[in-house]
Amino acid sequence: MKPARFEYVAPATLDAAVEALAAANGEGKVLAGGQSLLPLLNFRMARPTVLVDLNGIKDLSFIELRGDSVAIGALTRHREIEHSPLIASRLPVMSAAMRHVAHLAIRNRGTIGGSLSHADPAAELPMMAMLYGASLTVQGPGGRRTLMAKDFFVDALTNCLEPEDIVVEIEFPILQHDGWAFEEVARRFGDFALASIAISIRRDKSGIEDARVAVMGVADTPLRLENVEKQLCEIEVDSRMLDRFSELVTSSVTPNSDLHASAEYRKHLLGELAKRAMRTALAAKG
Ligand SMILES: Cc1cc2nc3c(=O)[nH]c(=O)nc-3n(C[C@H](O)[C@H](O)[C@H](O)COP(=O)(O)OP(=O)(O)OC[C@H]3O[C@@H](n4cnc5c(N)ncnc54)[C@H](O)[C@@H]3O)c2cc1C
Repeated sequence: MKPARFEYVAPATLDAAVEALAAANGEGKVLAGGQSLLPLLNFRMARPTVLVDLNGIKDLSFIELRGDSVAIGALTRHREIEHSPLIASRLPVMSAAMRHVAHLAIRNRGTIGGSLSHADPAAELPMMAMLYGASLTVQGPGGRRTLMAKDFFVDALTNCLEPEDIVVEIEFPILQHDGWAFEEVARRFGDFALASIAISIRRDKSGIEDARVAVMGVADTPLRLENVEKQLCEIEVDSRMLDRFSELVTSSVTPNSDLHASAEYRKHLLGELAKRAMRTALAAKG
């Protein structure tokens, strides 16, 4: 199919893009990598009257260290994140997750701003935003404001942006960890995940003193399991630890069944991935 008719604008600055979007009175859409939006246009599931192309705004593409955080411009391509030495050294869980994002051709075009805004519940970058406790800088007609990832993902394919907002950059706090892991199962490599878990742990003499746990594919949005994180700090690192962690994780989620997998299968899968992830994270200390 072909898209419905729309007006195309390609502004050179962010201010001009916000202006063009605001002028569309809620009927405009931002175009970034186009990997999710163009199929929606072609199937006429999205019918914007104006398409505002961000690709000419060069200062939206960067990866930079800012004190204890790494800031990534919204137009930064998945492939740049995947191959960034800065991301590999400071945000290693994200680095490991990137090779699971779709296929090479899609990673060459897809952007972090597009992935977060599209808010697929089984996409890796939204999950990373939850794991790291990322903040998003957003610009609208009223100026810039900051949104936390935990407030950004509202439902499947739904974020909390106003129609005239543009995501400008995303800041990921660097986690201090002794061990971390990323585990995912998809039906074919590069497909959206059936279930996935990412963890980061800091250990002390008696066990785990701090933990981050995020999951995806098992709810309408990616989830950070703060309750599990707290309980992890109270359980002993002994031979039963992997099973206990797996139980904690699976009892915290209520997946849906769909044509890709049943709810029971997703839960079982997540439990197994949780064990695998914790085994890897604990082994890193040794
Ligand atoms: C076959 C296939 C497999 C895929 N598999 C995976 C996968 O396994 N994991 C995964 O994570 N992703 C996957 N994707 C999605 C891919 O990562 C997309 O690139 C991504 O979801 C959207 O990024 P984009 O830059 O292409 O955004 P676009 O398609 O251009 O835009 C997507 C949406 O975000 C909005 N938007 C874009 N940028 C901004 C911004 N800066 N501010 C506000 N709104 C904005 C657009 O208006 C649109 O609504 C897959 C896609 C395809 C086609």
